[in-house]
Amino acid sequence: MNQQVQIKNNKVAILGGGESGVGAAMLAKKQGLEPFVSDFGSIKSQYKKMLDEMNVQWEEKSHDTNQLLCCAEVIKSPGIPNEASVVKLLKEAGLPIVSEIEFAYRYCTAKLIAITGSNGKTTTAHLLHHMLKKAGLNVGLAGNVGKSFAASLVEHDFDHYVLEVSSFQLDNIEKFRAEIAILLNISEDHLDRYNNNMEHYANAKMRIAENSQSNDFFIYCEDNEVLRSALKRKPVKAHHLPFSLQKQLPEGAYIDQDQLIIQILNNQFTMSIHELALQGKHNLYNSMASGIAGRILDLRKEIIRESLSDFQNIEHRLEHVATIHGIDFINDSKATNVNSTWYALESLTKPTVWIVGGVDKGNDYSELNELIQDKVKAIICLGKDNKKIINSFKDSIQVIEEAASADEAVKIAYEIAQKGDAVLLSPACASFDLFENYEDRGHQFKRAVRAL
Ligand code: ADP
Repeated sequence: MNQQVQIKNNKVAILGGGESGVGAAMLAKKQGLEPFVSDFGSIKSQYKKMLDEMNVQWEEKSHDTNQLLCCAEVIKSPGIPNEASVVKLLKEAGLPIVSEIEFAYRYCTAKLIAITGSNGKTTTAHLLHHMLKKAGLNVGLAGNVGKSFAASLVEHDFDHYVLEVSSFQLDNIEKFRAEIAILLNISEDHLDRYNNNMEHYANAKMRIAENSQSNDFFIYCEDNEVLRSALKRKPVKAHHLPFSLQKQLPEGAYIDQDQLIIQILNNQFTMSIHELALQGKHNLYNSMASGIAGRILDLRKEIIRESLSDFQNIEHRLEHVATIHGIDFINDSKATNVNSTWYALESLTKPTVWIVGGVDKGNDYSELNELIQDKVKAIICLGKDNKKIINSFKDSIQVIEEAASADEAVKIAYEIAQKGDAVLLSPACASFDLFENYEDRGHQFKRAVRAL
């Protein structure tokens, strides 16, 4: 470390001026620390305003390394890779680097239920939050969904938190620990941030339970092979409660003859899967995981049953938009990887015109071959570069078209589809080439459908 640099012990560097960075700044300020927010890109005007109102110093479009090196600690936003040159520089200078959830955790006295996984985090977090609220608990929902954990701690005083946690947040934890940790699944995603190494990515996901103790609980998917082998590499101290669609388990949750069964100690909960609000195989997993958490928290069985059956799904996840001339239009814009699209296609029963494409994160489309041959009658590519998709499916699907906007994609789909068909937007890719984000993509799709 540069000897001339004077470290101010209460000064913390916050890298990234988005939801989590600004949340961290709010919490730091409340704790009497002196945050300095630094973003290499531009900070949204609403966040700049918030920082100014709190009297927090910030910079954008560059990093003032002299200022950063004066800080006692770095809170890194999840969008910034550990390989970013500023992160490397600060690390080499000996500054501790933590994620926003680690920082927030220090100031949290609530009981935490943390959810991670490649897919299903937001759905399960909302479902569980709905259940806990119904049970009358003073519970907050935060993390990757809506408000950052840090901002929520500043604004509320909850007894329980349902936290959606990404692998990027977990990359920089030290002591973060949830009494209940849920790992829904591990499938290929974000490999670009993990040296294209599935083990590295799986290890990051396992960190959700790395600080757990024997009186904590670890809820996880027994059917996921990658997860099972990660668990062998990274044993978890907490009490294991797995869930499965493939086998009956002595403890945990499983399906038997259309009944969802949760078995914990000698107590059994059962419910018909036809009563579940969320349909599709993937949602059985999400419902089982939430149900187990509800039982651990000792919620009444009626409350668990009711909340699993009256939950209203969130936008952009297999969302039914409209039926026009007998054609169902479905918005699954949040499907940003191959695995989530697999579950979307799996759940459909009608011949489907599939709208796919965007920014590829190293996708392997071959996993979809069987489903595509079974269910898909035409493909519409909605991305700037569609070569990989076209090459993957040109031998199995006769009609493959390209569109440069949601509007165009919907119009082409409407021309191809017939009464009794479905049009599914399930891109398996990120959205940044043509849209602001997946919400923007979903909204544009819905607008185009409604304009037909
Ligand atoms: P996340 O927050 O992890 O990105 P979401 O709940 O937003 O997950 O769902 C993202 C996509 O994944 C949706 O398209 C949804 O249909 C699909 N999905 C939801 N739950 C699961 C699951 N358990 N396994 C696989 N896919 C899922």
